Amino acid sequence: MYTDLKNNLLKVQKRIARAAQRAGRDAQDITLLAVTKKVAVDRIREIAGLGIKDLGENRVQELLEKIPKLPAGINWQMIGHLQRNKVKSIMGKVSLIHSLDRWSLAEEIQKRAERKQMVVPVLVQVNVAGEDTKFGLPSSEVMEFLSQVTSLKNIAVRGLMTIAPYVDNPEDVRPVFRALHDLAGEIKNKNADIKMEFLSMGMTNDFEVAVEEGANILRIGSALFGPRNY
Ligand SMILES: *Cc1c(COP(=O)(O)O)cnc(C)c1O
Repeated sequence: MYTDLKNNLLKVQKRIARAAQRAGRDAQDITLLAVTKKVAVDRIREIAGLGIKDLGENRVQELLEKIPKLPAGINWQMIGHLQRNKVKSIMGKVSLIHSLDRWSLAEEIQKRAERKQMVVPVLVQVNVAGEDTKFGLPSSEVMEFLSQVTSLKNIAVRGLMTIAPYVDNPEDVRPVFRALHDLAGEIKNKNADIKMEFLSMGMTNDFEVAVEEGANILRIGSALFGPRNY
């Protein structure tokens, strides 16, 4: 038993609930996606046992190793940069891909999904702050990209994702989250056919600000499992 894990989870849930309350939102509408990269399988089993069934991994290999080691009923989600040659191996194994960031990847997902006769739910990753070190489309290109992706019948865009810059004071990234929220609103207004159900934003360092700015999927690792060892 990792009692720290249970305590950490309760603390995170409490902080989410308070942030939701400040924003006049219902905390039930916010999914806590536990980011399990570099986390041992027995700890992942334990958090699943505590009721957290949405788990995120950022590397395909690690994801594929872990899936068979956990009970069925987990919603595995791919949150990291995705190479085209890895797409095939995750088809049907993840409930959401958070990191669609380029046309060549969209084409590959479409091809693999069509062969399997399935529709793959995705989020478009946006590099709101324009950081060189991060993946994601520039905000200015998202609308055009989406209008092209809607022609791919086996891909269902469900929303947007961003990774905010790391800052000491999370208040500093509020404009980043607000910009993603505004972009989703703009997309909805311009094209009613494109679904903007999910805003995946907010991590350990900044999730409360993200909740205040409309996030409904929080990707949280170290606040739950402690610092990662690389
Ligand atoms: C690792 C990771 C997270 C979680 O990071 P923490 O700061 O540990 O909460 C969230 N999103 C992505 C894409 C990640 O790779």
